[in-house]
Amino acid sequence: MSQIWVPLHDIPAEGREFSFSDPGLWTEPWKEFGLQYEMIDPLSASLYVSPQKEGYLISGTLTGKVSVPCDRCAEPAVVEVDSQFQEFESTTGTIDEDEGDEAEDEKSDLLRLTGQGWELDAAGLLWEQFQLAVPVKPLCRPDCKGLCPVCGADLNTAPCECEQDQGDPRLAVLRGLKISSS
Ligand SMILES: [Zn+2]
Ligand SMILES: [Zn+2]
Repeated sequence: MSQIWVPLHDIPAEGREFSFSDPGLWTEPWKEFGLQYEMIDPLSASLYVSPQKEGYLISGTLTGKVSVPCDRCAEPAVVEVDSQFQEFESTTGTIDEDEGDEAEDEKSDLLRLTGQGWELDAAGLLWEQFQLAVPVKPLCRPDCKGLCPVCGADLNTAPCECEQDQGDPRLAVLRGLKISSS
């Protein structure tokens, strides 16, 4: 994945704003991870970076519109991205060695120290924020009927010939049970 290292050492105490609109920031990882995503309204982002005693406070916005495969039928689902976020990237603490470490004293993995000073991986941060903005199970429409598990037909288009009633044989057992209340 591409990285964009933004130098932070010369940011004044009141902070500085950065804008990003290169579509490659998002389309490159889509390609890299084999995601069938498409840009509808170009994504753009702004970051406001404020230096703090032990790190950097980053607030930002990410907006745009993308199409992603529906979780049920794989047809395009439109996702309106309009997110605001705020993150603290710590320059202190230890680098996480075991997975179980407390997140609080963890050094940010989006920062690196060079001879000039700290730099922020803006592309990495914007990719993380994009992933958070897309629902885990996007739907092309709220009542998407999905695909028939037997024949694979798109049930939004037309009902198929399969016997929907039989369902999962394991559930048929449960259907035979009587519910007893105590
Ligand atoms: Zn769907
Ligand atoms: Zn079917």
